[in-house]
Amino acid sequence: MPKKSPKICLVVCGGTITMTHDPVSGALVPAYNLADILSRVPELKSIAEIESAFVCDIDSSNMTPDLWVKLARTISERINDFDGFVVTHGTDTMAYSASAISFLLRGAGKPIIFTGAQTPIHENTGSDAKNNLIFASRFALEDLGEVCVFFGSDLLRGNRTRKFSQFDFDAFKSFNLPPIGKIGIRPKLSEHRIKRSKVSLSTLPATLPPVFLLKYFPGLNPSIIESIVNAGYKGLVLEGVGAGNLPSVVDFGSAIRKLAERNIPVVVTTQCIVGAAEMFIYEVGKAAEQNGAISGYDMTPETALTKLSYLITQYSKIDDIRREIQSDLAGEISLSS
Ligand code: ASP
Repeated sequence: MPKKSPKICLVVCGGTITMTHDPVSGALVPAYNLADILSRVPELKSIAEIESAFVCDIDSSNMTPDLWVKLARTISERINDFDGFVVTHGTDTMAYSASAISFLLRGAGKPIIFTGAQTPIHENTGSDAKNNLIFASRFALEDLGEVCVFFGSDLLRGNRTRKFSQFDFDAFKSFNLPPIGKIGIRPKLSEHRIKRSKVSLSTLPATLPPVFLLKYFPGLNPSIIESIVNAGYKGLVLEGVGAGNLPSVVDFGSAIRKLAERNIPVVVTTQCIVGAAEMFIYEVGKAAEQNGAISGYDMTPETALTKLSYLITQYSKIDDIRREIQSDLAGEISLSS
C-alpha cells in the first residue's frame, strides 16, 4: 500500500509575510495569495500535502479577541484532518494570539506552529519568509502537542514568547523557558516539549471578555483602576515593578481591594523581561496580595491577559480564577518559584 503523505493545514491570518507595498503610499498592506506562496516556496509540497484555511488577512495590529475565537474554531473544526497546523500571522501581536490559542485549544494534542516574517515573501532583496515557512512546516509534523512560535532559528513555546526585536530575523524569545526546538541540519526538539497526544478539545466560548493590561509607573493615579472597570473590563492585569511590586499607599491598595470585592480579578505580572512576580519578597508586594491581587508568577503580560480572559469564560468565582491562574494549564507558568 502506498504510504499516506502527511497533511498540514496552512491557516492564514495575514501579517508582513504575505503583504505587499501599496503602489501609492509605499506602505505595507495585506495581500494574501496562496498560489504565490506555494510557487515561492515549492519545498512545502515536498514536506507535506498542504491545504489552506482562511481566517483573516490583516496587519496583526488589527487582531481582536473575536478573531482569536475564529482562529481557534477554524483549527478545531479541522483538528482530525491534519497532522499539524502552520498559522501565518503578523509578528506584532503574534505572542498574544499564540497565547490565546494555547488556552482555547488546550487538548489539541498536535503541533500548531505560528510563524510570519519580518519582510514580505516576495521581497526581491531577500526575505526570512521562506526559511520560516519551511521549518514551521517541518516542526508541524514532529512529535509535538503544543502551540509554538517558529522564527529565525528557534521554536518557542507560544505562551512564553515575546516579540523582542523589530529588526532581527530572530524576532522572538522566550526569556523564562529555553527553546522547545532549534533548526540546524534538521529540526531538533527539546525534552521539555509537550508531546503529541489524543485530541480532547473542550467547547469553545462564543466570545472572550475584555481584560485590561495596565503598566504601573511612579505617579500612576489609582483612580484609573475604577475607570477601567466602569469602561466594562472584566479583569485587570497589572504589570508591577521588580518582583511584582506595587505601591502600598492607601489609595492604591484600596483600589485593588474594591475590584476583588466586586469579583473582578487582578493579576500581577512583572515588568522585568526575566524573572517572576514573587510578591512575597517585599512588604509592598505582600500588601497588594493581601488586598486581593493574584500573583501571576513568571507569566508574560500577553499570557496573563489571554489566560485571564479565557478563565473568566470558564469560572465565575474569583477563588476558582485565582486557583487556575496559579496552575499550569498549557506550560505557561513555572510554579517552582
Ligand atoms: N505589522 C505587521 C503585523 O504584525 C508586522 C509583521 O508582520 O512583522 O502584521
